[in-house]
Amino acid sequence: MRESHEASGDQNLVRLSLARLRELVEIALLRAGASPDNVAALADTIVASERDGVRSHGLLRLRGFVHSIKIGWADGQARPRIVSEAPGLLVVDAQNGFAQTALAHVRSKLVGMARSNGTAVLLTRNSHHFAALWPDIEDFAAEGFVALTCVNSKKRMAAWGGRRPVTGTNAMAFACPRTGHPPLVWDQSSSVMSQGDILLAASKGYDVHLGVGCDANGEPTTSSSAILNGGALLPFGGNKGASIAVMIEILAAALTGGPFAFEDASPAQTATTSKGGQFMLIIDPAHANVAFGERISALLAAVTAAGARRLPGDRRHEARLRNLNEGLAIDAATYASLGRLANSVAQSPEDA
Ligand code: NDP
Repeated sequence: MRESHEASGDQNLVRLSLARLRELVEIALLRAGASPDNVAALADTIVASERDGVRSHGLLRLRGFVHSIKIGWADGQARPRIVSEAPGLLVVDAQNGFAQTALAHVRSKLVGMARSNGTAVLLTRNSHHFAALWPDIEDFAAEGFVALTCVNSKKRMAAWGGRRPVTGTNAMAFACPRTGHPPLVWDQSSSVMSQGDILLAASKGYDVHLGVGCDANGEPTTSSSAILNGGALLPFGGNKGASIAVMIEILAAALTGGPFAFEDASPAQTATTSKGGQFMLIIDPAHANVAFGERISALLAAVTAAGARRLPGDRRHEARLRNLNEGLAIDAATYASLGRLANSVAQSPEDA
């Protein structure tokens, strides 16, 4: 299958295989000026998000990656460099490139460090992230490691009762291996709603709930566009989410040597990547000398018995299965935008 067109409700859909999606994404990034390493790392995360039904961080992000490379805000040719190394710690300068490329550059080294030392910490500076975090760590858990990561992003969120943006919507993800099941993975922003979901709401003209954000005057608002245009997002759980966001500024910016959210110097357009840093901790449970797999099974069985209707990641895995079997169905407008970015006019169904 390359592409075929269908209708669902009032939407025109285009169905395409994940392989074809990847091909178009790669062309778009190459045409923007990214090097093969950067193309591969970014295509991995965009395609994984679409495959798992995470629309807020798949193709929706491609325009931002392409635009950032084209205007030189991010370096699509960047070659990450290890700047400091200690047992169990790597500091990498992404050289104004992408955090995903920096991770790919040192991944096997990190795995080796965690296997021999029990832990490995990666501090990535001068890096752009604009995507979901779970693609960065899920595979570590599939290989038996516990992994934790966080990134800081552009200033978009108020903290501790403030009314103006000062931190990013700083995301944090956790992954843990499970015996006989895919890893347990959760991934969340520190805002009530992620910037990606606000962008989606604004693009459809939808309002959001009160408590999600404030306008440029610091007043509570339900307008997604007022939040995006000079307003601020609010942290989840009030002071608790704010504390997590500030902790992430410390781990992902102060410790890595990357810029804080409030030091953001990005161009005004929303469709540009965030420049900051990434913190990652990898732990090999084998060094803890405990029956880790059994303990995780017991914990999750208790959580389920106590009424949890699903585990984080279950929704993604269902979408993954469906999309791998049936191909992706994306709306015609998103497909047309992908075609324009790849400058590869969409094939007609007859050509498919
Ligand atoms: P969500 O609130 O959508 O989801 C948070 C987590 O909770 C997910 O792991 C999700 O699993 C899980 N979850 C949701 N509902 C349930 C439920 N009913 N029961 C059990 N688990 C549940 O995430 P956010 O909107 O906060 O963040 C979205 C994305 O934005 C993240 O991927 C994050 O990395 C990204 N982001 C990236 C930034 C960047 O700078 N790169 C900045 C900020 C955010 P599931 O996936 O299965 O639904």
